Amino acid sequence: MTTLDRVPDAELRALLDRTRTEYEAFRARGLRLDMTRGKPSPEQLDLANGMLTLPGNRDWHTEAGEDARNYGGLQGLPEARALFAPVLGCPPDQVVIGDNSSLALMHDVVAWAMLHGVPGSSRPWTREEAPAFLCPVPGYDRHFTILDAFGIRAIPVPLLGNGPDMDVVEDLVRDPAVKGIWCVPRYSNPTGEIYAETTIRRLAALPAGAPDFRLFWDDAYAVHHLTERRHAIANILDLTAEAGHPDRAFLFASTSKVTLAGAGLALFASSPANVRWFLARAAVRTVGPDKLNQLRHVRFLRDMEGLHRHMDAHRAVVAPRFDAVHDALTARLGGLGIARWTKPEGGYFITVDGPDGTARRVVALAKEAGLGLTPAGATWPGGVDPYDRTLRLAPTYPSLPDVRVAAEGISLCILLAALERGAAARAPAETAA
Ligand code: PLP
Repeated sequence: MTTLDRVPDAELRALLDRTRTEYEAFRARGLRLDMTRGKPSPEQLDLANGMLTLPGNRDWHTEAGEDARNYGGLQGLPEARALFAPVLGCPPDQVVIGDNSSLALMHDVVAWAMLHGVPGSSRPWTREEAPAFLCPVPGYDRHFTILDAFGIRAIPVPLLGNGPDMDVVEDLVRDPAVKGIWCVPRYSNPTGEIYAETTIRRLAALPAGAPDFRLFWDDAYAVHHLTERRHAIANILDLTAEAGHPDRAFLFASTSKVTLAGAGLALFASSPANVRWFLARAAVRTVGPDKLNQLRHVRFLRDMEGLHRHMDAHRAVVAPRFDAVHDALTARLGGLGIARWTKPEGGYFITVDGPDGTARRVVALAKEAGLGLTPAGATWPGGVDPYDRTLRLAPTYPSLPDVRVAAEGISLCILLAALERGAAARAPAETAA
């Protein structure tokens, strides 16, 4: 029951009328603001402008004295692998550096698994009856799109605030058709949650029915902290090895939201056997990655301390935007009991759950008022949220003043949709129009 449920009918109608009037006034401002996708703002991209003149006119030799302009170096430069190995929590020789998109690596790994299988497979995944992945929800829409593209079934699993519901996962994973699970273990997209160590241990030790079951461990927000606390998570490669499943985890990350979103480095890490498998397949599709970009990153970020310093500068730009959204939601909706929202300590998103059956209405109201929101349902496989309640807000891209205005508008839309629904539930005939 929400606080609104206890408001007398006449008061509820008056509040609905007032909120409608406020919404109309907001709509009349004719704004055009976009909070649809988690993109870095121009100020964040500017932080990496120093990279644009690197590696310099004559300075293209690697530490080993090789010419980074040329072909080769499929696994990535040793100095770049050494720089990012601590982020992934493994030795540099278990790291592979690709080109600019970790999503592309995830796509390729799924494609190769479908065509050829992975270490431990008895046949390619396409030859399985009906391969499936577990999808913690709400989740990242592009993960689900990859499954869609390959005809892999997506099975939703609830997230509990510290990772997936492991009782459900342990039950479902006994089915040998279940080949993988998407995990964004730190500052998850979009809930911001951080997987607990107990959850990570259970994932590492899952009683999987498929011998070639994989954790698709997408640590996209590994260094994207919003507070002074740099949250660490348990080391999945160590834990899977300890549990007797050394080849179970494929790790992904990138510098898309560290340096330049369109010109970052994609990172892959895994067991030695999986890395050999990956490189054998990668060798078919490329003669080598962009090593100049790797040199650029090494010379710009230098080491973990440099990387953290750089991310502190991101935090200074981004954290006030998150605060602005939180403040606007609290000011408009606090204490009403109609919506819950996250206060993430890292990552790129705020998740708002309104009353069931209102998310699509909120997105439509926001659109009418010139506010672009991620489509309702995008955080679920197939684009359908069965509860129609989850909104994903991406506050990084617009300027701080724009985020303030957008957050005010979104809060208003959430309230209006909740009031409309509340009023309709009480007097269907009167308010249905
Ligand atoms: N993984 C997650 C969880 C993301 O949220 C995103 C971007 O929003 C990506 C991957 C995309 O990463 P990349 O830019 O490296 O392809």
